[in-house]
Amino acid sequence: MDTSDPALPLPAVTVTPAERVFPTLTAHQITRIAAHGRRRPTERGEVLVDVGDKVVPFFVVISGEIQALQPTAAADTLIVSHHAGQFSGEANLISGRRAMARLRVVEPGEVIQLAREQLLALIQTDAELSEILMRAFIQRRLGLIARDLGDVVVVGSTHNAGTLRVKEFLTRNGHPFHSIDLDRDKDAQELLDRFQVNVADVPVVICRGAVVLRNPTNARIADCLGFNEEIDEARVNDLVIVGAGPSGLAAAVYGASEGLNVLVLESNVPGGQAGSSSRIENYLGFPTGISGLDLTGRAYAQALKFGAHVMVAKGATRLACDGQRYTVEIDEGRRIPARAIIIATGAEYRRPALENLSTFEGAGVYYGATPMEAQLCIGEEVVVVGGGNSAGQAAVFLSSTTRRVHMLVRGPGLADTMSQYLIRRIEENPAIEVRTRTQIVALEGSGRLERIRWRDDRTGEIEGHDIGHVFMMTGASPNTAWLRGCIVLDDKGFVKTGPELSSDELSQAKWPLTRPPYLLETSRPGIFAVGDVRSGNVKRVASAVGEGSIAVALVHQVLRQ
Ligand SMILES: Cc1cc2nc3c(=O)[nH]c(=O)nc-3n(C[C@H](O)[C@H](O)[C@H](O)COP(=O)(O)OP(=O)(O)OC[C@H]3O[C@@H](n4cnc5c(N)ncnc54)[C@H](O)[C@@H]3O)c2cc1C
Repeated sequence: MDTSDPALPLPAVTVTPAERVFPTLTAHQITRIAAHGRRRPTERGEVLVDVGDKVVPFFVVISGEIQALQPTAAADTLIVSHHAGQFSGEANLISGRRAMARLRVVEPGEVIQLAREQLLALIQTDAELSEILMRAFIQRRLGLIARDLGDVVVVGSTHNAGTLRVKEFLTRNGHPFHSIDLDRDKDAQELLDRFQVNVADVPVVICRGAVVLRNPTNARIADCLGFNEEIDEARVNDLVIVGAGPSGLAAAVYGASEGLNVLVLESNVPGGQAGSSSRIENYLGFPTGISGLDLTGRAYAQALKFGAHVMVAKGATRLACDGQRYTVEIDEGRRIPARAIIIATGAEYRRPALENLSTFEGAGVYYGATPMEAQLCIGEEVVVVGGGNSAGQAAVFLSSTTRRVHMLVRGPGLADTMSQYLIRRIEENPAIEVRTRTQIVALEGSGRLERIRWRDDRTGEIEGHDIGHVFMMTGASPNTAWLRGCIVLDDKGFVKTGPELSSDELSQAKWPLTRPPYLLETSRPGIFAVGDVRSGNVKRVASAVGEGSIAVALVHQVLRQ
């Protein structure tokens, strides 16, 4: 992550990097924090927070010394010592997740203690302290990630799809983990054999140093790490946002910052498609580009800062719109009532019709080109399938670390589907070879992808190549199956909104009001659709963000009526 975070600008004074991560607050700043919490004495040896604690207070040291420690079987590893004027905590104080470190008093003295809610209230009202605390928390989390100081160990293989999925889930959730590669660490393989862990059980995830999970689902990992708060089915949320891509996160930031009680449901990890983009260069305000993970990671932190509740690995399975109130059903059949709903479920990569595609997904076939996938094919030949902007970005990005990139394009060229700036870069890049009117016809390999066959549609000739990495960047279809019959969709399954809905469609959908639907409103009053899932949407991060924020203004209007 870029540590010179423009979203969280530095204070005007000159500070060293260490002071940014572990700053010493001024007396005036401490007085402002004290107004939100309580002063209390500390005792030598007192454990203020322990690893795995769900309730994690925030402490400012007035006198004495507190150490943040990573407990291990052998001994506690010191992460940092906090002295007078310094404060505890990292990103999980904002997200409300379990503590990853132990906080112990080594020199008795006095602290100011704030509960998480008091801390959130402080950062929402005090811009200067918000800047200092947010920056420190984010950079401390980055430090934990860089030093592998997490509470999770992933034992897996680079050739295993489940291992890639789990690592991606943890990485995109910003959760540090230590990784053991079975292909390199023969002792680890022997250990797994002794415990009769077979191939289907890989990866093995050791969660919080205690629970051993065999090839767990993302939802199981989220539960173990306490990523989600308890859902209160009795509480009616002002606004439920389904999907935490750029459009859903933008709606969450605007909704929560404007005082709405907001719950976001995300079936996988926050960030959506944008989160899998290696470099977004056309989003306003980032002239040198920004990785999708960085951009959406910041948006996620921003939504949490304003008090939005975000549930990860908790997908909506059904929208119930027949009763008096809308409810969104989630995985375990639980129902979440809402006064208004924003559908922001985006789209999913199209999977070409290749017989054994799923065998190689994550084991040579990838749907995103981020540094994580790039690491797997350094110095090798790769194939990028597709002729759109995402394929172009992937090809340019991969060309810097691989030996050769073959771009396979079904159409006659790139001009109709790709931005000019990318076409120029591809044409000028000797490491990228574009093959038009060409498509993959077979994937081969045992255990992982080893060989590809592609066909030139002009000649019908099939060529075989020993290439073990294919990036499928062939567009997407909308995630609307869960809406089943509730909402009017277009012929491709995208959600119709506002002026797109004809009077026939509205009368068939039994639109109950005298006013027509608002701009982003669906065929149900109070249910909006934004971003890639919406019919007629321009598939860009900026338009997703714009629509997410506009929808919130319209939600206010509906809630007032
Ligand atoms: C590789 C790649 C590179 C790109 N590069 C650029 C670029 O450079 N510039 C640009 O402007 N655009 C780019 N785009 C397009 C851009 O990412 C999308 O337009 C944008 O992400 C759309 O945002 P969204 O929030 O509408 O949907 P998405 O990003 O698709 O997010 C939808 C979210 O909803 C979740 N979801 C789906 N179903 C459910 C459910 N039932 N319950 C709960 N959650 C659900 C998904 O897991 C996902 O997180 C790129 C896209 C890709 C794939």
